[in-house]
Amino acid sequence: MEAKTVKAYGTEATDVPLHSLNIKRRALLPHDVEMEILYCGICHSDLHQIKNDFGHTMFPIVPGHEIVGKVTRVGEHVNKFKIGELAAIGCIIDSCGKCESCENDIEQFCDVGVTFSFNSPDKYLGGATLGGFSQTYVCNEKYMLHVPETLDLASAAPLLCAGITVYSPLRHWQAGPGKMVGILGIGGLGHLAIKIAKAMGAHVVVFTTSPSKVEDAKRLGADEAVLSTESEQMKKYVRKINFIIDTVSAKHDVNTYLNLLKHDGSVVLVGLPPEPLEVSAFSVVSGRHSFSGSNIGGIAETQEMLDFCAKHNIAADIELINIQQVNEAFERLEKGDVKYRFVIDMASLKK
Ligand code: NAP
Ligand code: ZN
Ligand code: ZN
Repeated sequence: MEAKTVKAYGTEATDVPLHSLNIKRRALLPHDVEMEILYCGICHSDLHQIKNDFGHTMFPIVPGHEIVGKVTRVGEHVNKFKIGELAAIGCIIDSCGKCESCENDIEQFCDVGVTFSFNSPDKYLGGATLGGFSQTYVCNEKYMLHVPETLDLASAAPLLCAGITVYSPLRHWQAGPGKMVGILGIGGLGHLAIKIAKAMGAHVVVFTTSPSKVEDAKRLGADEAVLSTESEQMKKYVRKINFIIDTVSAKHDVNTYLNLLKHDGSVVLVGLPPEPLEVSAFSVVSGRHSFSGSNIGGIAETQEMLDFCAKHNIAADIELINIQQVNEAFERLEKGDVKYRFVIDMASLKK
């Protein structure tokens, strides 16, 4: 089987809008699955990378790592998927499989280095791996997920990054009955964190900088919603919260939130502000607080999250767009003007 040329959307530089490109997908290896991509979410990490916010973007870049579709071809030794089945790919498409992290199903922390679905060195084709803003994806079956049939496919796409990124720390820090969990920032990650934490049985308090999201947070399932710019409202939560999932994408003051924790609580950063954040000594020594972080989740946990979301009927609130609107969508995402995730209908790529 030959490598295939397929259509995609990407860019060669930070100052060039995304546009139509032809890219290669590798010939199937014995354990490879080819998927036709039906929907792909737009994560703020895609925006960080096309802007080269972290200084390590490999151009040309094709973003997209919230990928759902249908299996179109399988390698000769594939047994996890059949042609015609639904399938999904998130951030991880390869890891060493042998280190302690891989053996413990936390491939996201692979000692050798995980291969991401976009912007990682591609050991087969050279250059960078190219993401889901494209017609197809090819990867080893081990890193592909099954999508429960009951989930709406377009709204399920954001679960592949936004969903697992909040599910994993909510599990690790044990969200559940009797726990007050804070969610900081109501964007793609934050709005799913509200739904998932609530389904786990926690008491959910949301902190937002957007007055319009205060009411909406309750519709999403939050027990309480606080406008974080109102210091009187914030004072009510000092030493009340067990842990906080911080999804903010830009520089912000984490000390304000460390001070809301009960003793031994943690502010868990999942957002990726490009600039370093300052932590005051008193914010952590008082109350034995910790400032920690979490990065996506392993493959087994991603499957567990998809099954959990299907069971609790959880998916993203989305704005479905055509690929031709993608530059406008990135501009709106930068301004925080999306409720709450853009998802691309990949059928539009054929136009
Ligand atoms: P998003 O949809 O843009 O949401 C981010 C939210 O943060 C905004 O809606 C806003 O919420 C709040 N916010 C933005 N700028 C702010 C500022 N200057 N001060 C205070 N609050 C601000 O982004 P997303 O897709 O959810 O991603 C969030 C972050 O997580 C990004 O940095 C992304 O790269 C990162 N991420 C990390 C992982 C991981 O594994 N660690 C995975 C995926 C994404 P309010 O309007 O409610 O204030
Ligand atoms: Zn993401
Ligand atoms: Zn490994």
